[in-house]
Amino acid sequence: MDAKILDGKKTARDMREEMRLEVISLKEKHNLIPGLAVVLVGENPASVSYVTGKRKACEKIGIYSREENHPETFPEEKLLTLIKELNNDPAIHGILVQLPLPKHIDDKKVLYEINPDKDVDGFHPFNVGKMMIGEDTFLPCTPHGIQQLLVRNEISIESKHVVIVGRSNIVGKPLAMMLCQKLKNANATVTVCHTRTKDIGHFTRQADIVVAAAGRPNTVTADMVSEGVVVVDVGVNRIEDNTREKGYRLVGDADFENVSKKASAITPVPGGVGPMTITMLLHNTIKSARLSRAV
Ligand code: NAP
Repeated sequence: MDAKILDGKKTARDMREEMRLEVISLKEKHNLIPGLAVVLVGENPASVSYVTGKRKACEKIGIYSREENHPETFPEEKLLTLIKELNNDPAIHGILVQLPLPKHIDDKKVLYEINPDKDVDGFHPFNVGKMMIGEDTFLPCTPHGIQQLLVRNEISIESKHVVIVGRSNIVGKPLAMMLCQKLKNANATVTVCHTRTKDIGHFTRQADIVVAAAGRPNTVTADMVSEGVVVVDVGVNRIEDNTREKGYRLVGDADFENVSKKASAITPVPGGVGPMTITMLLHNTIKSARLSRAV
């Protein structure tokens, strides 16, 4: 079987074009420009590149973006004051604090300081609670991106058995919670596996949809899946590769070459889930702007 490639870049492009038009309309009809503040402390190269990607994505669709870049030594107290200021700024509808933060800063304290109405990452316990009980809220971007990628590529989630490998608070757990809701584009039966699961293959072989979110290459191999399975690979792992200019290449958590021979559909890495994550951040920022004016 030749797997269909679930092209996250294309799906993200289509969604961002819809959002660009929505932003134009918000400005014309309501004089409303959605605004996102991205806070970066330190110079971690991966974080710098994520923050740049977010700023460019905002610019492309007409969202106002404010970058708050601060040195590694920025005190926690000043960061909390900055968050309070952003909470009160009417031009800012979304606040994103890039993780990880330096060791001297308590990231929970900082994330909990963000007004839940501006929590476009969906990490505040208030919004996590609302998601858990199936209320409308800001959904965390990576799980929401996975759901949208499936839905927009006409892969039904309803009544399917979804097996998720990984139980982090930003991917595995919220995705499990979202997909088992008694809601449209959900209603799945969900199994969550992790490092203490005995024989992960026993579960993944029963899955209609496998989501690999462990952060380890080859966590899902061909012998662990059934013919026709849909595989969503969330993992982003650097593998040494001297044929590349950078000296490495990116691979996911699934053995793409062999798993794709059995799967009916699979996401590539890169170009699968990654582009969807930023897209859902833009979505949440526009949603927050609309809610701020009830339009
Ligand atoms: P994380 O916080 O490190 O969590 C990894 C989870 O996978 C943990 O629950 C861990 O189990 C489980 N796990 C690790 N190795 C395993 C194994 N061999 N077998 C079974 N379970 C295993 O990672 P994360 O933040 O969820 O991210 C996961 C991956 O997705 C990473 O590669 C990350 O870079 C990537 N990611 C990509 C995007 C994107 O937009 N493309 C966004 C977020 C994350 P325990 O709980 O038992 O330790």
